[in-house]
Amino acid sequence: MYDYLIVGAGLYGAVCARELTDAGKNVLVIDKRSHVAGNVYTEKVEGINVHIYGAHIFHTNLPEVWSYVQRFATFNRFTNSPVANYKGELYSLPFNMYTFNRMWGVVTPDEAAEKIEEQRKAAGITEAKNLEEQAISLVGTDIYEKLIKGYTQKQWGRPCDQLPAFIIKRLPVRLTFDNNYFNALFQGIPVGGYTAMVEKMLSGIEVQTGVDYLEDKEHWDAQARRIIYTGPIDAYFNFSLGTLEYRSVRFETEILDKPNFQGNAAVNYTDAETPWTRIIEHKWFEFGKDEQGKELPKTVISREYSSEWKPGDEPYYPVNDEKNGKLYQAYHALAAKEEKVIFGGRLGEYKYYDMDQVIAAALTCAAKEKTSKEDCHGM
Ligand code: UDP
Repeated sequence: MYDYLIVGAGLYGAVCARELTDAGKNVLVIDKRSHVAGNVYTEKVEGINVHIYGAHIFHTNLPEVWSYVQRFATFNRFTNSPVANYKGELYSLPFNMYTFNRMWGVVTPDEAAEKIEEQRKAAGITEAKNLEEQAISLVGTDIYEKLIKGYTQKQWGRPCDQLPAFIIKRLPVRLTFDNNYFNALFQGIPVGGYTAMVEKMLSGIEVQTGVDYLEDKEHWDAQARRIIYTGPIDAYFNFSLGTLEYRSVRFETEILDKPNFQGNAAVNYTDAETPWTRIIEHKWFEFGKDEQGKELPKTVISREYSSEWKPGDEPYYPVNDEKNGKLYQAYHALAAKEEKVIFGGRLGEYKYYDMDQVIAAALTCAAKEKTSKEDCHGM
């Protein structure tokens, strides 16, 4: 009998496992995939750490999370500066003075602010009710049309006026020449890849991969006093109230016999016609070099295609619109009745978490578990 069964060896599960083990608990971690690390999993191909489930750039404003991850990896100084390709025109991201200069020829922050204000006024938006209105309020119509509209519709499979405004608030708008995509104090990529980092988190802890909890729930439930479940919350309840919607992503990965394909880790294709949303060139997360500092002769690229999730696909992004929000609340109420189970992580809480937020939530959950007999539903 274990104290804890942790279902899912992604970041939420691995952090809980580490913390509870260090507190003297007896923990078993299981995952239905053949590997640990969830969607941050990386695999070495041609000497390059390939982000198999899409680009993951660690960034945080939480000093305690930053110092926590340092225990398990050394982080490099990578700063995310994606480039937007709109029909061959290249723009800097996030939206900053380089973007505004390229779009309108403006040179000073005042000129850029004036241009945005002019476009916002012309659109007549007072209070932004959806993503389209929010985007136009933030950066004006031209940038919305060229850099946001097509990309967002491809990524979410829904028109921008049917998406919540908060999605676009993830992106900074700056009247400076700062190409850093994130407003974060700390940022980097773990040297040696995320898999090694998660393996270190799990060191000394019993892990079984390739086992599906939901297929044999009774058997697994009997193994532990408490369960931390990080899979999809609707799947846990056998979709009894209906299916939550997710966006899924598919990658077409290629090894190219040349050292440089696009000169940057991420290039977003922001027009509506190009079928992929972005191309990731994995070597640039580590500056094109291997761990010995040697230049890599080949390169690995992944074209990313976004699609509506259907059973059998990997769920990536929860669709946090009103309809799904309501359904999630109904599942959440069911979850609160599962006395020995804690639901956590992006899928367990149906939340568009970043990696640092997942770690912070897992640390809070583990801390509560360590000090009380009560569970931490609703984390
Ligand atoms: N977005 C956009 N154009 C871009 C990049 C992002 O319109 O070139 C919008 C899009 O709606 C996306 C949101 O900003 O869903 C958040 O983007 P982010 O890069 O944070 O998404 P993630 O990296 O999590 O996929």
